[in-house]
Amino acid sequence: MTLAYIGIGANLGDARQALKDAIVCLAQQVGITVAAKSSFYRTAPVDATGGDYFNAVVRIETSFTALQLLRICHHIEDQFGRERPFRNAPRTLDLDVLLFGAETINTEHLTVPHPRITERAFVLVPLIELDASLAIPGRGPAASFLAGVQDQRIEKFSSCKCSRLQEGGTQA
Ligand code: ADP
Ligand code: MG
Repeated sequence: MTLAYIGIGANLGDARQALKDAIVCLAQQVGITVAAKSSFYRTAPVDATGGDYFNAVVRIETSFTALQLLRICHHIEDQFGRERPFRNAPRTLDLDVLLFGAETINTEHLTVPHPRITERAFVLVPLIELDASLAIPGRGPAASFLAGVQDQRIEKFSSCKCSRLQEGGTQA
């Protein structure tokens, strides 16, 4: 079993609901256990067009390889109607493999740790919420990159609303 982190984002349609549904989809996969989920965050697009994003990160345990996990993520994205009309286009759902154990992978279709993991508040902040002492293989402590993203707008939903979400409520 490998401990991995998946970043979840959406800014088209009912983005909050998409995040909730995507976590359920991941948890339903044989070979994936969702061990922890971050709060939901509302964030400004970074290098992208469209409205605000909703973002979260989940920690999973998985028996899959990293490439198998990426394929599952793409399959779930497809189920949510993900289209790629141009780079960084608004999206109904984006699932990124942020970390996969201590592995570093550099292949044509998969780079782990995710290449932009240290540049994005919407990834770093929920990652650090899940593990304040998290180390990014080959890069160092995740928390050490926070200062570099402090200008990026990110707003956490209240823990009250998030606990309702975890109980299966309708509002995130
Ligand atoms: P974005 O980079 O905005 O998330 P996409 O979701 O369309 O854009 O992904 C573009 C490509 O990035 C995918 O085809 C995928 O093969 C590649 N990729 C490389 N490394 C990763 C990773 N760690 N997680 C997700 N996709 C990755
Ligand atoms: Mg992606």
